[in-house]
Amino acid sequence: MTEFDLIRRYFTRATPSALLGVGDDAALLKVSEDYVLAVSTDMLVSGTHFFPDADPFLLGHKTLAVNLSDMAAMGATPRWATLAIALPGADETWLEKFSAGFFALAQQHGVELVGGDTTRGPLNLCVTIFGEVTAQQALRRSGAQLGDEVWVSGTLGDAALALAHLQGRIMLSAAEYAACAPALHQPQPRVALGLALHGIANSAIDISDGLLADLGHILDASRLAARLDFSALPISSVLRGHLQQPLGKQCALSGGDDYELCFTAPGARHAELLGIAAQLKLPLTCIGRIVAGLGCLVHDAAGDPLNVEANGYDHFR
Ligand code: ADP
Ligand code: MG
Repeated sequence: MTEFDLIRRYFTRATPSALLGVGDDAALLKVSEDYVLAVSTDMLVSGTHFFPDADPFLLGHKTLAVNLSDMAAMGATPRWATLAIALPGADETWLEKFSAGFFALAQQHGVELVGGDTTRGPLNLCVTIFGEVTAQQALRRSGAQLGDEVWVSGTLGDAALALAHLQGRIMLSAAEYAACAPALHQPQPRVALGLALHGIANSAIDISDGLLADLGHILDASRLAARLDFSALPISSVLRGHLQQPLGKQCALSGGDDYELCFTAPGARHAELLGIAAQLKLPLTCIGRIVAGLGCLVHDAAGDPLNVEANGYDHFR
């Protein structure tokens, strides 16, 4: 199989919303009137972001999901993507499943693959995603306001717990692992939530490196601090069973790979947000408040400060 056969067979689908898609030197895209492009890139490296023998269908899903999550965090509608892929060889079974996982999620979100690059090399997957949003509606990290409530979607820490199990840092029962593995292998990007937050949230970020690290980016950009109530965090029953161990608390606060949204909004929008949660069938939980100062304080139900390691995942630390 030649490189061009491979691209044609596995990565070429109809792109009706592009003026020109795969096959020329560049794709041609027209942004809707009054909208701006939201552009983001996320790379998944074998051995760093996934095990080399990862299920290719789920890997295809996750490669796109982590990029869709950035569109969600920006409040943008994802439209197009490019895929740069380095492959150790042309393994057709692998390619078939990888592209099926990628395109299944792309189709769910109306995203068209309009280009990319294909080379031989250690397995490496890099997507650039292009979305649309108005400059005014874009959810920036820098918009948090004093007194805002801090919210998160879904549950926190399940992906990190599943990873800790695979790495032998904790022992889960088969049923426990089965309950939290989807969070690690098949994260659901919160695109509909990001769009629903237009005009409500003052700031937003997606949680890829752990709640404290990512909320920390909002706080830095907004020059404010937060007080979080640990007992309010949305935690699955499986993780709840391991919260007495330091590793359990770490998964909830600093575990990576959640791909939930963390956002801040005025207290006056609290009821409206609960309505959005019901409508989207996605739990939204208020976990604390934006206050003056620096950093993030986490307290327990009694109001006593928790001693927590705030650092999220950092490739170069
Ligand atoms: P060039 O030599 O101009 O860089 P390529 O030979 O790399 O072009 O790619 C040919 C066409 O196939 C281009 O339109 C490119 O965007 C597309 N393409 C290459 N790899 C992929 C991929 N993995 N997924 C989608 N499109 C791809
Ligand atoms: Mg090229």
